[in-house]
Amino acid sequence: MKKLIVANWKMNPRTWQEAEELFNAVKETEAVICPPFVYLRELGIMNHESGIRLGAQNVFWESQGAFTGEVSSLMLKDLGCEYIIIGHSERRKYFNETDENVNKKVKAVIEAGLIPIVCVGETEGERENNKTEEILEKEIKDGLNEIDYSQIVIAYEPIWAIGTGNACDIEEAERMKEVIQKMTSKNVKIIYGGSANADNADGYLSQANLDGLLVGGASLKPDEFKRITG
Ligand code: PEP
Repeated sequence: MKKLIVANWKMNPRTWQEAEELFNAVKETEAVICPPFVYLRELGIMNHESGIRLGAQNVFWESQGAFTGEVSSLMLKDLGCEYIIIGHSERRKYFNETDENVNKKVKAVIEAGLIPIVCVGETEGERENNKTEEILEKEIKDGLNEIDYSQIVIAYEPIWAIGTGNACDIEEAERMKEVIQKMTSKNVKIIYGGSANADNADGYLSQANLDGLLVGGASLKPDEFKRITG
């Protein structure tokens, strides 16, 4: 199965000019790029002849109306997005996003015909206290309530591994893939995120046989990102 490599640019780069440069440097890769909303339209126009697919980093669950500052699935679809990251730990942490919010967003995204990439994962403290499976169980039970698992991608993103350089061991990522499969379905697509880079990518993709990677920091370095996508 073809691997799904997703670039989460987060709130980077700082200007359109830098975003254009970064996009041009990676546009030969086969990846999903999730830039800030404000760069999506131009990147969609530039994208016609490349292998890139576009995604967004967030969405609101309503389709239109008086929701100041929000963006709907239909708006993102209209700009050419195919994937939407939902429930990233930074959104849960800084914007108080709950599993109930995640559930509404996942439903809206599927309804619009897009693919949600739903992030789950434990903090360092939760792992140390042997709470990892309990946390995942709750995120999955509440966040994915009434969801058809064949329509989504789950990103296992241990929070202690995000942006820290302390990537999850390959064997442990493989074990977590099996844990998540047991909680959902054998066929659900599961990708890994958390300090993935050009040196460890192949371990997750070939050895642990994950379905892909969600890449933050390394997606901003074109040479490194190109090595990850192969
Ligand atoms: C992320 O934010 O989804 C992520 C995986 O970040 P990083 O690769 O920088 O750890």
